[in-house]
Amino acid sequence: MSDWTQIIQASTQHDPISGAINTPIQLSSTFDQKSFDVFGEYDYARSGNPTRQAGENAIATLEHAKYGYLFSTGMAAISSVLLTLSKGDHVIASKHVYGGTFRVLTDVLPRFGIEHDLVDFADLAAIEAAIKPNTKYLYIETPSNPVLHITDILGVVAIAQKHHLVTIADNTFMSPFLQKPLDLGVDIVVHSATKFLAGHSDILAGAVVTNDQGLADQIYFMQNAVGATLGVTDTWLLLRGIKTLGVRMQQSSNSAQKIAEYLSANKKVTRVLYPGLPSHPGYAIQLSQAKSGGAVLSFDVGSEANARTVVEALQLPVFSVSLGAVETILSYPPKMSHAELDAAELLENGITPGLLRFSVGLEDVADLIADLDQALALI
Ligand SMILES: *Cc1c(COP(=O)(O)O)cnc(C)c1O
Repeated sequence: MSDWTQIIQASTQHDPISGAINTPIQLSSTFDQKSFDVFGEYDYARSGNPTRQAGENAIATLEHAKYGYLFSTGMAAISSVLLTLSKGDHVIASKHVYGGTFRVLTDVLPRFGIEHDLVDFADLAAIEAAIKPNTKYLYIETPSNPVLHITDILGVVAIAQKHHLVTIADNTFMSPFLQKPLDLGVDIVVHSATKFLAGHSDILAGAVVTNDQGLADQIYFMQNAVGATLGVTDTWLLLRGIKTLGVRMQQSSNSAQKIAEYLSANKKVTRVLYPGLPSHPGYAIQLSQAKSGGAVLSFDVGSEANARTVVEALQLPVFSVSLGAVETILSYPPKMSHAELDAAELLENGITPGLLRFSVGLEDVADLIADLDQALALI
C-alpha cells in the first residue's frame, strides 16, 4: 500500500461500537472489569486506553513497526527509551543531537551511572572507535539540528550489527513520510510528534516505535512505570494532524527545495545548509535513505547584525522556536534552541552568528521567496 493511502487508513480507525469514522476520545481513567478473575484489555489509563492505542497503532503503521507508544512530549519518549539503560551502560550519540536529548545524556543519566560519548555521526570510523565494552546503544539524529548534517543510517546499522548494539534514530526532521529508519535496520525510532506528525503547532507529543518484541516490552514497561503518557484529547489531535502528513510534507519539502535554490543564488547569503542541494556533503546519502531533503533548512547571512535585520524585516514567518508546522517558522539557533552553548561551542557545532533556521510551512513558495528577497536586500 502506498504511503499516501496508509496515512489515511492508519489515522481513520473506525469505532467498532458506533461506527464513527473517527476514533472516539475515551475520557476515562479506569475501565469496568466484567469478571472477578479475568480483566479486560484496559484497566487503568496509564497502562493503556483505546484512544491512545489507536494513535500508537497509527504511528507504528506509518513507521512500518509492529509496536508503537505515545508519550506526553518528545523528550518524555526519548528519556523513557534511554531509561531502559542501566548503571554502567554506555551510549554513543551524535554530537549534533537535539539540545533536550543532550541535556538528558549529560545532566540526568550520569547521576544514574549511565555513560555517554558524543561523536560526529557523519564519520563512521569515529563511531566505531568510540565503542567500549559497555556500549549498548548508538543514537542517530538525521538530518541534525540546526546544521542539517546527514548520518549514513545503513552505515551505522552495519556497525551496530557487528558489535551487537541497539540503534535508535530520532526521525523528527523527516517524519515517516520521508524516511523510515526501521526499514533500514534501525531498532528503535523516536519522534517529537509535536513537530511534523502533529503539524499544527498546537500540541506536544512524543512517539517510540520498534519491531523488536524484547525492546517493545522494555519500552512499554518504562511508559507505564514512569507514566509520561499522551492524553486522549492530544492523541485525537495528533491523529487529526497525521491525516494530512503526506500533503504537508510534500508541499513543504518542495517549497524548501526551491527556497534553498533561491538562497544559494543570493549573494547576501554566505552558506545554505539543506541536504536536498547537490552541493551538500550528505546529498547522495540523504537521497538514498529519504524521499527528499525535507522541509527544514538553515542559512547564514554573515553576522548577528545581519540576522537581526533579516528577522525584523521578514513579514510571513513566525519568529519562534519549534518547527514542522503549517506556518513557516523562522528561528535564530544561537539565542533559541542552542542558547545554552557558549560562543566557542556554537562555532564548534557550525552554529555561526549569522545562522537562521527556516522550517517551511504551507504558504505559497513565491510569497515566501519574495519576502526573503525584500529582507535580504536590506543587508
Ligand atoms: C523538538 C524536538 C525534540 C523534543 O521534543 P518535544 O516534543 O519538544 O519534547 C526531540 N528531537 C528533535 C529533533 C526535536 O526537534
